Amino acid sequence: MAISRATTEQVRERLDIEDVVNDYVPLKKKGQNLWACCPFHNEKSPSFSVAPNKGIYKCFGCGAGGDAIQFVMDIEGINYVDALKYLANKYGIEIQEEELDASQLQAQNEKDSLFIVLNFANEYFKSLLWEHEEGKAIGLSYFKERGFNEKTIQKFELGYTLEAWDGLVKAAEGKGYSKELLEKAGLIINKENRHYDRFRGRVIFPIHNVSGKVIAFGARILKADKKQPKYINSPE
Ligand code: ZN
Repeated sequence: MAISRATTEQVRERLDIEDVVNDYVPLKKKGQNLWACCPFHNEKSPSFSVAPNKGIYKCFGCGAGGDAIQFVMDIEGINYVDALKYLANKYGIEIQEEELDASQLQAQNEKDSLFIVLNFANEYFKSLLWEHEEGKAIGLSYFKERGFNEKTIQKFELGYTLEAWDGLVKAAEGKGYSKELLEKAGLIINKENRHYDRFRGRVIFPIHNVSGKVIAFGARILKADKKQPKYINSPE
């Protein structure tokens, strides 16, 4: 079951970002926008602004930003669907659910599988950075040399891939993920029916979507002659 499109549209039409944010932080008008001390980071003078005509918020201190639904997701720590339910409830809108048809369901399942395997890869890359000798010696020291502290490294879920051809292939297969799925997620390369890790010996930067799921990875080669970051595709 999913929240019906009609309900989603009703919520989007009805919601008012000023009103939504005001439930959490008192806003003050200054110029065209409304301002408050940011609820997402600690500050004494307001750098958090709401633009009611655009329906968005933006913090110039910590970079938080988005629409009213994103605000609810971030401040309540909930996903998109739960944020919609919260807002429907706030505005007294009845939530209608609808069944997905077969093709929607298949697309949903495929997307879910990609998210799951990308999440697995993310956990794998992180564990290499923190627990593997090579990851610690090369990846972790690379980040630390560049001034990343451990808290930041954890917050951004940075990782490392081994200087090996099949580190991820083996780890993922050991967990039952198919090569087809890994390939579809852009994590491995299929060359004449041999499968290779796409990333080798690199530090990894996961890219998250608005609901916090990993949708892609950026990687940086550590060798001095190849400094360009490379990106792989996402399921979205
Ligand atoms: Zn902020």
